[in-house]
Amino acid sequence: MDTRAFKRSLHHSDRYNRRGFGRADEVAASLEEAYTSPLIQRIREDGYQYRQGRVIIRLAQAFGFCWGVERAVAMAYETRRHYPSERIWITNEIIHNPSVNAHLREMDVSFIPVDGGVKDFSEVLSNDVVILPAFGATVQEMQLLNERGCHIVDTTCPWVSKVWNTVEKHKKESFTSVIHGKVKHEETLATSSFAGTYLVVLDLAEAQIVCDYILQGGDREAFLRRFAAATSPGFDPDRDLVRIGVANQTTMLKSETEEIGRLFERTLLRRYGPAALNEHFLAFNTICDATQERQDAMFSLVDEPLDLMVVIGGYNSSNTTHLQEIAVHRGIPSVHIDAPERIGPGNSVEHKPLGRDLERLEPFLPEGELRIGITSGASTPDRVVEGVIDRVLDLASR
Ligand code: SF4
Repeated sequence: MDTRAFKRSLHHSDRYNRRGFGRADEVAASLEEAYTSPLIQRIREDGYQYRQGRVIIRLAQAFGFCWGVERAVAMAYETRRHYPSERIWITNEIIHNPSVNAHLREMDVSFIPVDGGVKDFSEVLSNDVVILPAFGATVQEMQLLNERGCHIVDTTCPWVSKVWNTVEKHKKESFTSVIHGKVKHEETLATSSFAGTYLVVLDLAEAQIVCDYILQGGDREAFLRRFAAATSPGFDPDRDLVRIGVANQTTMLKSETEEIGRLFERTLLRRYGPAALNEHFLAFNTICDATQERQDAMFSLVDEPLDLMVVIGGYNSSNTTHLQEIAVHRGIPSVHIDAPERIGPGNSVEHKPLGRDLERLEPFLPEGELRIGITSGASTPDRVVEGVIDRVLDLASR
């Protein structure tokens, strides 16, 4: 499909909106009440530190709602104002945060039902309003909604659109897009729908397997089995790993994305020589600024002596998980929780260790003086961070 031509025609449709409705003032109070926190604002102004009793809280210098998320949430609120009586759907969680999605449900915004892992659009009718979330939607979903005559409110973050443009450029120049991302993450699903030939690699280890194949060849069938769910239809490693462009999910670990880019560059350099490198390799850094800032702030925070790290964000939030990875790799005891209610009863916490299911940890807070680092992912409102700090301080004071 010519995805560029489709996007162009969609953008000209009078049933498509990606700029909001000019009602920012009308929704500002509701947004402030639901998501901001005077306590967090005060801690920011006091040098990101707060002391109470035996606990010193150290906040990361950059955390929480990013520009793209604020914009998407505000657009969703504006949409409800603009269409007070229409049915409003959203193709997925607007962002990966349970409290934000719960607020939208309260505003009578429905989520497209998912049956056996497949979205069911059968109840969506002509003239219904459908919001596309911050991490976008697949081109096939956009096409379906457009053909059905829905009003589309597209809150896709411009950083994500930039990645789509990158893979479309690969497609135009007959490069295979190697996408550093999580194959089932909505953003990567959307990005691969705009790509031509593609291969998704999760991490450096998978990238190494691909690069080994480029240099030494190998068992073609085993390669195809390994990447069966991560490649475009008809992918052939002998044909499709000759010209490679690298792109990434915007929220991956920046250092790993850079490493993967360098690995492919070195590999293609060895395979084809420096004179031909440009015909075989294209790289763009498509990590977004907000992700970078939050990861950089986390690296600074974990340089401090901390007794404990609390990382707050949705369990399916990629950027939050990467923040926790940074603490874990530094050897700092770290819990990843998605809501204040995970703390308790008593001195316990229900948290998600890296790569595992939820577990209960008890005791959560050790005895004595504590220096606790706190950060949150790009989709976590300050109000949720405040709730966590309140519970931690309350627990420490008992
Ligand atoms: S994390 Fe980055 S790409 Fe994602 S919504 Fe925020 S600014 Fe956009």
